[in-house]
Amino acid sequence: MLAHSRARTRRTLAPFFAGLGEPAYRVGQAEKWIWEGAARSFDEMTNLPASIRAPLAKAFSLTPLAPDYVARSRDGTIKHLWRLEDGERVESVLIPTRERLTLCLSSQVGCALACRFCATGYFGFRRQLRPAEIVAQYRDSLRVARDELGRPISNVVYMGMGEPLANLDAVIDSLAVLHGGFGLGARRITVSTVGLIPGILELARRPEPFELAVSLHAPSHDLRLQLMPIEKRYPLPELFEALRTYQGYKNRRISFEYTLIGGVNDDPALAHALADLARGLICFVNLIPFNPIPARPEWRPSGPAAIERFAAALTGRGVGNAVRRPRGRDIAAACGQLRLSTEAGEPRT
Ligand code: SAH
Repeated sequence: MLAHSRARTRRTLAPFFAGLGEPAYRVGQAEKWIWEGAARSFDEMTNLPASIRAPLAKAFSLTPLAPDYVARSRDGTIKHLWRLEDGERVESVLIPTRERLTLCLSSQVGCALACRFCATGYFGFRRQLRPAEIVAQYRDSLRVARDELGRPISNVVYMGMGEPLANLDAVIDSLAVLHGGFGLGARRITVSTVGLIPGILELARRPEPFELAVSLHAPSHDLRLQLMPIEKRYPLPELFEALRTYQGYKNRRISFEYTLIGGVNDDPALAHALADLARGLICFVNLIPFNPIPARPEWRPSGPAAIERFAAALTGRGVGNAVRRPRGRDIAAACGQLRLSTEAGEPRT
């Protein structure tokens, strides 16, 4: 059910209810439960007669996720580890600020891209998530947001485990459901990618103004290749050509993510190179102090002075930027820290 648009869900439910001899208004009742009520099961739909809830549950699934583990940070961040039907697990994170409540969700179990600074990269790829499994992270998080935080989710970022554009069809379907089913504004949904060009061009052709974030981390081929193996397949000049095409279609600001690793990619000269690379693009750079991961004990986040120098160098070249404060560090919910243990059954957080 969760994999389809509101209209398609209605088209599926209408003949089903008719077949059970139920009046047409039942369809609207069920719909309301799914999209507004964030129902996880047909049993919750208490204004539907019990006699039709059973056949509904038999015919359709609402893909309830089992929360295997919940961690609450001192800063209000809430991390969930969800168990999927086949026992695989993915994480999502609710990040409250004064103005926003952002959900960071996963698009794959693990990731194949092996970025050197990312914990998920060392975990490897397990499988794709289905559209309903992506949407269900939102639906189940929305319930927690309403119950525990008393507010709805205002923004969604595809920045959990996985590379969204390497699971393109499922991600596009999930975007359609978040937007068209749950009614989240397209501008409030950000897809973050290492820079998979076919996916970027596909997003460019979509009519909805979803936000695009590109994980850059280095402005030169050699350095980026050291950090991100994908640079070999989609090198920077081609990536930026695609981004210019994207902006030709969309005329929307592109965000870059730049994780600052002490002494590795934080030289101000690199900020200048980044500014040159981005010339002509409307863009904004999010600077993320590196979150240490066990696989790279020798890497540290850049210090405050180095971050300040890098940011100032960008600003000096007219490139808007902001330093992102790590959230949920005490529960290993910060950028790049999401991972699952392979066999132990317990999250290694
Ligand atoms: N695959 C997508 C989305 C997942 S990662 C992408 O790469 O964009 C979300 C962001 O967290 C990316 O910008 C990623 O580069 C960044 N990140 C990964 N590991 C990190 C770490 N250890 N410290 C800080 N940021 C990290």
